[in-house]
Amino acid sequence: MSSDLVIVYHRQPYEEVEVNGKTELRENKSPNGIVPTLKSFFGAADHGAWVAWKQADDPSNPEFEQIIEVEDDFGKYSVSRLPLSAHQVKEFYHVTSKEAFWPILHGFRERFNYDPVDWPNFREVNWAFAEAAAAEAADGAMIWVHDYNLWLVPGYLRKMRPDLRIAFFHHTPFPSADMFNILPWRKEIIESLLNCDVVGFHIPRYAANFVSAASSLLDVEVLRREKVSDDMIFEGTALTERRVPTLLSWEDREIGVSVAPVGVDVKYIAECATEQKTLDRAAEIREEMGDSQLILSVGRTDYTKGGAEQLESFERLLESNKDLHGKVRLMHVSVSANRGMSAYEEIQNDIEAAAGRINGRFGTLDWHPVALISRAIPFTDLVAYYRAADIAWITPLVDGMNLVAKEYVSSRVDGDGVLVLSEFAGAAVEMGSAVITNPFSHKSMDEAILTALKMPEEERRARMELLRNAVARRDIAAWGDQLEAEFGALKAAQKRRTFHSAYHYGAQS
Ligand code: UDP
Repeated sequence: MSSDLVIVYHRQPYEEVEVNGKTELRENKSPNGIVPTLKSFFGAADHGAWVAWKQADDPSNPEFEQIIEVEDDFGKYSVSRLPLSAHQVKEFYHVTSKEAFWPILHGFRERFNYDPVDWPNFREVNWAFAEAAAAEAADGAMIWVHDYNLWLVPGYLRKMRPDLRIAFFHHTPFPSADMFNILPWRKEIIESLLNCDVVGFHIPRYAANFVSAASSLLDVEVLRREKVSDDMIFEGTALTERRVPTLLSWEDREIGVSVAPVGVDVKYIAECATEQKTLDRAAEIREEMGDSQLILSVGRTDYTKGGAEQLESFERLLESNKDLHGKVRLMHVSVSANRGMSAYEEIQNDIEAAAGRINGRFGTLDWHPVALISRAIPFTDLVAYYRAADIAWITPLVDGMNLVAKEYVSSRVDGDGVLVLSEFAGAAVEMGSAVITNPFSHKSMDEAILTALKMPEEERRARMELLRNAVARRDIAAWGDQLEAEFGALKAAQKRRTFHSAYHYGAQS
C-alpha cells in the first residue's frame, strides 16, 4: 500500500513478545519514548509506513511476513520488516555504527576503530533500507529517516525516487569538521545528507558543526543564518551557539537545516509522579534513607556517559568532607549495554571497581555510600526515585540530549530537588538554571555536587521552577508540532515547484 509518510528507523515500532510459541506485537511498555511520538505522526497522514530491520536466518527467504498492516492507538499503518542476517546486523550496527561512528560523533577519536569496518556491507544495508522505503512511498511522499546508522539512505533514495521529500533527524551530537573528517567515508556521508530536503539536529551547535563539515568537503553555500532563540542561550556554557545556519544550497538544491531539541512527555510524567503507587514507593525510599541525602545518577554504561569519572568525584567528596559520612548516598544506575563489546566491558569494570573501592574505603555495616544498579529500572519505578532523590547528578562527557535530566525535572511536581548537569549534554542549552558542571574538571565536578548538597530550599525551588518551565516549553508535543509544521512547509514548497515547472514547460511548448 502506498504511504504518504514513511518513517525509517532501525527499531520496530512495537515490542515482539513470544506467547505460547506465537509472536505477539505489543505497544512499547513506556509511552515516554521516541517511538510513540514518531507513530503519532501517522495521525496526520492518509496512510503511514514504518521501515525497520528484523533478523532472519535467510534474508532472501525470511521466515516472517515482510510487510504487515498494524492497527493500534495510532491508527492503521504498514510495517516493512527488512530481513537482515545476523552477520549483516553485527557489521552494520555493532561494528560500523558503534565502533566507528559512535566514538567520532561523541568526540572520542582515540576509540575510533577503522579496521573491522565492512563498508560494502554498510552500503548494502542502507541501500536495502532505501529500497524498502521507496517501495512503500506514494508519489511525492515524505520520508523521514532517523539516525547515523542510516546515513546513506537519503542519497540512495534520491537516486531511486527524485519525487520524494526527504527529512533526516540526528538523535546524537554532530561533531565539528576536525572530528567528523576522521571518518574515511566522510564525503559519501555528507553527499547523502545533502540529498535531503531538511536535516535535523537537537541543538544549534550540532547544526553548525554539520554545516562546517559539509563546507569543508563540498562547495556548500549558506543561504540563511538565524539568531538562536533566547531560551537556548545560556551565557558561558559550552554548547551555546548564538547564530545557526538554517538554509544551504548545493548543486542547485536547497537544503533546510532544522534545530528541534527532543523533549519528554511532561504530562504523562506528571501523571506518573502523582500516582499513589509512586508516592508510596517514594516515601518508602525516603524512609530507607533516614536523614541521608540521596543523589541519583542514571544512564547507560557507555564511555560517553562519564560514569567512572562521576564515581571518582564522589570518592573525592567523601575523602575531603568527613561530615558527609553516613549523611549521603549515591544511587548510580548504569544500565549495561550487554553487547559483548570490549569498550563497554572495560567501562563496566571501571564502574564496578570504583563503586567497590568507595564502599570498601568509606562504608560501614549500616552505611553503603554507593548503590550500583546495572539493570534497567522500569520507567514508573524510576519516577519514584526521581521524586525521592534530593539531587539528580547527570554528568555525561558528551550526550546528544539527555532525557533523564528532563524526566527528573518533569517528575518534580513538588517543585523541589536539584539538578546537576554536565554542560556537554545537549539538554544544557535549555537547562542553564541547573547547577552546570564541566565533567573534565575535578574542581568543577566536586564543587557542583557540594553546592547541590548544601543548596538552601529557596534557591532549589527557584531553580527548579525555571527548569520546569524550560522543559514544559519544549516538551515532546512541541517537538512533534515543530517538525509537523516543517514537513507541511516542505509540502507547500514542493507543490509550488511542481506548479512552477509545469507552468514553464507549458510556456515553452
Ligand atoms: N531509562 C529507564 N530505566 C533505567 C535507565 C534509563 O527507563 O534504568 C530510560 C530513561 O527514563 C530515559 C532513557 O532510558 O528515557 C535514556 O535516555 P537518555 O536520553 O537519557 O540517554 P540515551 O540512553 O538515549 O543516551
